[in-house]
Amino acid sequence: MAADQPHDSHQVPTSVATALRELDGPVCAYVYDPGVLRARVGELRRALPGVTVCYAVKANGHPAIVGAAAEACDGLEVASGGELALAEAAGARRIVFGGPAKTDAELSYALRLSTSADVTVNVESVHELRRLSLLAQRAGSTATITLRVNRADAGLPGTHAMTGAPTPFGVAEAQLPEAVALARSLPGLDLAGWHLHAVSNNLDAAAHSAFLAEALRWSAATSRRLGVPLRTVNAGGGFGVDYTGGAVFALDELRVSVPDRVELVVEPGRWLAADAGWYAAEVLDLKHTHGRWFAVLRGGTHHFRLPAAWGYDHPFTVLPVDRWDYPWPRPEVAGVAVDAVGELCTPRDVLCRGRHVARLRVGDLLVFGRTGAYGWDISHHGFLRHPAPAFLVL
Ligand SMILES: *Cc1c(COP(=O)(O)O)cnc(C)c1O
Repeated sequence: MAADQPHDSHQVPTSVATALRELDGPVCAYVYDPGVLRARVGELRRALPGVTVCYAVKANGHPAIVGAAAEACDGLEVASGGELALAEAAGARRIVFGGPAKTDAELSYALRLSTSADVTVNVESVHELRRLSLLAQRAGSTATITLRVNRADAGLPGTHAMTGAPTPFGVAEAQLPEAVALARSLPGLDLAGWHLHAVSNNLDAAAHSAFLAEALRWSAATSRRLGVPLRTVNAGGGFGVDYTGGAVFALDELRVSVPDRVELVVEPGRWLAADAGWYAAEVLDLKHTHGRWFAVLRGGTHHFRLPAAWGYDHPFTVLPVDRWDYPWPRPEVAGVAVDAVGELCTPRDVLCRGRHVARLRVGDLLVFGRTGAYGWDISHHGFLRHPAPAFLVL
């Protein structure tokens, strides 16, 4: 079913609805379909032939998703010891390890994994270069590295610019000659190229093509200038998803021409995983106060924080449930706009405001599509100690 999964997040696939209807109430669940992620990887590979695709684990670290990604992609991009453990458990053939705050223990773990997988450490500072060199010498191994660069200018539209701006990521372009000289002089390091992850949630595929071309051009020029034989250009992730409108990242506008003997790596998270997840929560109560209707859910932003973090309304679909166990009339609204709010004791626990419903009853489910990326994984699960959702894998 995965290949013809609609991009329309407002349709709840039958398989998802069926899985949800089998749960005991009050229902609160994430449903993941790894087949959707596999289909996305296939689409991306057809759009970017010859390009290495790594899945960014932080988007969704559920073992079923990570396992599918490890199989379907060339490798996994990880940013912590916990994610290294997920990659190891998934049997990843290739691992890119990044992040600005790696500990010695995490670097040593990556060096250990490099005996059985193809590991590239994406080094983010001069101090980290020195630590990795020391640890590699102690381990009697050589670490393949790319240097993450915060370029002077990396103009790309998107919501979370990470380079061309003051951020903790990577080495400032002006400090690159010093970092490269050090990387080449220290034992235990093999400098393969550059890591240029620049943005998140860019919806403009033509602009992304221009970014990839510019990343390759900059990499070749910088390698020539600094005398680094160029093998790898990692252009990061950042392929966008439109949560509220109908825009799509137009894969057919994605074009890139990679020079001989250079490997281009991309590492999307959001675009691969978003449509592979649905978050569902049962309506525990309906109330009308100060002129607004509220649907109070068994769930909320502690499970799905993205709309609160970004300040938007995440659309939902009503999944009607016929069962009603109480001996009084079922509370119900029809043809009104409702605010979908969670079970936390804060007025900020809002997933969606003002969404029109044809009919909604206590006991129905709200299903939020397109929640497979940066959903559960970025949420503050412990706040108020409500039970976690169920996790169903199709
Ligand atoms: C978060 C991240 C990604 C994935 O970004 P998406 O926006 O989910 O595609 C890729 N690479 C690095 C280094 C990241 O930090």
